[in-house]
Amino acid sequence: MTISRKLIFWRGVFNRCPNCGGGRMFEGWVRLRRQCPDCGMVLEQGEGFFLGSMSINYGVTIAGFLLPVLLLVAAGWIPVNAGIALGLIGAIVVPVLFYRSSRSWWLMIYFLTLPHELPANGGEGRGQDDVV
Ligand SMILES: [Zn+2]
Repeated sequence: MTISRKLIFWRGVFNRCPNCGGGRMFEGWVRLRRQCPDCGMVLEQGEGFFLGSMSINYGVTIAGFLLPVLLLVAAGWIPVNAGIALGLIGAIVVPVLFYRSSRSWWLMIYFLTLPHELPANGGEGRGQDDVV
């Protein structure tokens, strides 16, 4: 296997193509390219992949932002009204800022589970026609 799980992990963390490490997976801020412009691997894997990445985004927003704000309010370190305002703003801003990473992380999780499906490892990737 050419591309190790460790390499897939680090490429995913830094929003790079899991197959070639290219950094052009996105057009603009939010649009994931259908294929990697560097290696041609299919990146847009279908609705299941979108929902998976949104689950990651939701989880990071809750566990990484809203829960700490709630704990700060509960501990009395910030006033309730400020906590509510911070929570409302964060509930909108954090998912937007984390969008790209959530798409990349979901691809990373898929190929960490099935690294032999990467084209660089002799697989065929996972195209739209494979989605059930
Ligand atoms: Zn690539």
